[in-house]
Amino acid sequence: MARYTDAVCRLCRRQGEKLFLKGAKCSTEKCPITRRAYAPGQHGQTKARITKLSNYGLQLREKQKVKRIYGVLERQFRKYFDMASQTKGVTGKILLQLLERRLDNVVFRMGMANSRSGSRQIVRHNQILVNDTRVNIPSYLVKKDDIVQVKAKEGAVKRIKENMEVSKERTVPSWLEFTADSLSAKVLRLPEKEDIQQMIQEQLIVELYSK
Ligand code: SF4
Repeated sequence: MARYTDAVCRLCRRQGEKLFLKGAKCSTEKCPITRRAYAPGQHGQTKARITKLSNYGLQLREKQKVKRIYGVLERQFRKYFDMASQTKGVTGKILLQLLERRLDNVVFRMGMANSRSGSRQIVRHNQILVNDTRVNIPSYLVKKDDIVQVKAKEGAVKRIKENMEVSKERTVPSWLEFTADSLSAKVLRLPEKEDIQQMIQEQLIVELYSK
């Protein structure tokens, strides 16, 4: 599967805001966006001074931001949008719900990893059970009443517990009922926009794809 392999901090600098793609490191003073708050590349500083985004630019930037937060590439993101627009309800809200329901995101929300790329690795390495069945597909969509649980060798569990220690200030959202003893979480309900801590204007994405 295709994935982004370049330096992730460039993505935040391009976006002009912190996307928290590196977990705990993002809250330190080493975060490049606090030291170089302009777009990456040779002309990044010049562009930052002269560019005023059009409506289309704002919509595009918002789409890129959400893709980067969840680590999803264009094709798959478009697929989520098509699924959302074919589902009864508010398209933007369903789009965010689909992204939140991804298994790698659930593992991240449980605090098992410091970033979504870390949680994706945990899933890929066969360390997660969903309803007692091993699932190693990061894009797997959880549903209400699913139980997501860590089932890994001792060393991997130790690493996960270390991650939990680092991410203990992040609260597990209320749509998940987390049990630390069994390293598991039950999906109590589908996530709502209010459960997402980052500010997202999903309407801009709907407008972009509806052109
Ligand atoms: Fe973004 Fe984190 Fe890198 Fe800062 S440290 S630029 S928030 S990924």
